[in-house]
Order: sequence, then structure tokens, then C-alpha cells
Amino acid sequence: MQGFIPLSRFVRFRNLLASEEGEIDLRLHFEEVGSGLARVVGAASASVELFCQNCLHVMTLQVAIDVNTRLVKSDSELHSLAENIDGMVVDTPRLSLTELLEDDLILVLPMVPRHDVPCIETLKIVGSETRRPFADLSKLLLQREKD
Ligand SMILES: [Zn+2]
Repeated sequence: MQGFIPLSRFVRFRNLLASEEGEIDLRLHFEEVGSGLARVVGAASASVELFCQNCLHVMTLQVAIDVNTRLVKSDSELHSLAENIDGMVVDTPRLSLTELLEDDLILVLPMVPRHDVPCIETLKIVGSETRRPFADLSKLLLQREKD
């Protein structure tokens, strides 16, 4: 399966972000691994906004995770998996994609997000963008629509 899930569905993850706008881009497929068990493999990625802990302005970060999780039916099955295998108990007919992905997404976020380039340069770019006449123009157009 391939699709998008709104970031807003990942409550714990979005609480760590500067904005819940955006989507998780998802590519997953399911493989049988014998004796009625299944494995879900694939990848998920998203462009997220975080507050730079240096300048406290919003920065955009691309995050990506690989998915390789064994789906099991009970805790005892989970505990019988080898240590290097990720497992998840699925006790409802539907697999929860937020449960499958959310912990890993949280883990790939930097503990202390910072701009890659020195913040002062980023501020200059942001500053010049806000001075663009284009922004004011769109505001005027919106006002006109309300009238
Ligand atoms: Zn910064």
C-alpha cells in the first residue's frame, strides 16, 4: 500500500513539532512469513517543522524511517521473537498505522533541533521573504474577497 496520513493523526509525534501541517508519506507491503504470521516492511517519511533550539525560529526537517515489523497475535508470540526482530501485537482486525510508526518517528527526531546553516543566515533569508510584496498582495486579495 502507498499513501499519506495527516501528521495530526500522530498525537504524540505532532506535539513535538512546531506545526501539525503535513503528511506522512507511506509505502508499506505485507509479507507472509509462514504459520499464519505476517511481516510489514516499507518506509515512511515526512517533512516536519521544528523549533531551532538556537534561534527559536521554525526549521524544516526531512525525517524518514524504515519499517520492518513482525505482526503477532499475542504478547507471548511477541516475547518469543528473536531480539533483533521488531514485533507488534495486532489484536484488532485492523492494523493501527499510527501505533506501527509513531514511536520510530519520535526516535528519529533530533533531541536538540538546530539549523544546519548558521542561524543568522537563515534569519536573513526569512527576513527577506517576509518583505516580499507578494505576501501583502495575497492579504489584499483575501480582504477583497471578504468584502
Ligand atoms: Zn536556528
